[in-house]
Amino acid sequence: MRPTVLCFSGLDPSGGAGLQADIEAIGQSGAHAAIACTALTIQNSQQVFGFSATSKELLLAQAHAVVKDLPIKCVKSGMLGTTDNIAALAEFLQEQPQYLYVLDPVLVANSGGSLGDQDTLVKAFAALIPLATLITPNTIELRALTGEQDLQRAIQKLFAMGAQAVLVKGGHEATPDFIRNALYVQGELVSETQCPRLDGEYHGSGCSLASYIAGRLALGDDVKTAVHHAEIWLFGVLQHAETPVPNGQKIPKRF
Ligand code: PLP
Repeated sequence: MRPTVLCFSGLDPSGGAGLQADIEAIGQSGAHAAIACTALTIQNSQQVFGFSATSKELLLAQAHAVVKDLPIKCVKSGMLGTTDNIAALAEFLQEQPQYLYVLDPVLVANSGGSLGDQDTLVKAFAALIPLATLITPNTIELRALTGEQDLQRAIQKLFAMGAQAVLVKGGHEATPDFIRNALYVQGELVSETQCPRLDGEYHGSGCSLASYIAGRLALGDDVKTAVHHAEIWLFGVLQHAETPVPNGQKIPKRF
């Protein structure tokens, strides 16, 4: 049985983001994906129309059902939807301290739609930050999590909040020709990568990257190596992304 990543993530019916992105990315990384579903969302490649979150009890029951059954090495979280679900995940991780954990601090969809109440989610994420092997915020999420606008101050604040390693994704910064990501471990910059900025908006790029990293961690890579493999893989997947409707976001082609 392949090493398994247990994902706490929501269903996106378009198949671009959420648990489908996780399953496809983790499959491509070489690991196996298991899912504890946090929410059912209503959305397409253009817009989020709403969502219904799983109860804390149902979420934990899903996770507990597979703990003794599958060789789980890593947990990955994406959309959690409610503060109750964030608390449930924190409880689960405290019960299972042997698991690696990749925290993708999802607050809003790339299309701009709400995936939970941002202010309450931000406060609740404080419990997950110290439990994570790696946190993968974009710069909007990094600023929201820390309340700091200056990026260097925001990064240092996240470490002060207990972070162990942080991959800062630069896709939302005003760099028209390129995207720069930076990996920090224990407060120190350990690698920086730059790739050409591809045209358009992508649905599920963050989910795909975090999940591929989680898959590589489950297979035994260290954080820096896992991030390196995932960034190369993601660029190819986005280059081949498909456009369902002209004004919609592109859907990464993960196979
Ligand atoms: N999880 C779910 C269920 C989503 O619907 C979305 C975005 O729509 C995300 C996560 C985050 O997606 P992205 O990787 O585009 O940030």
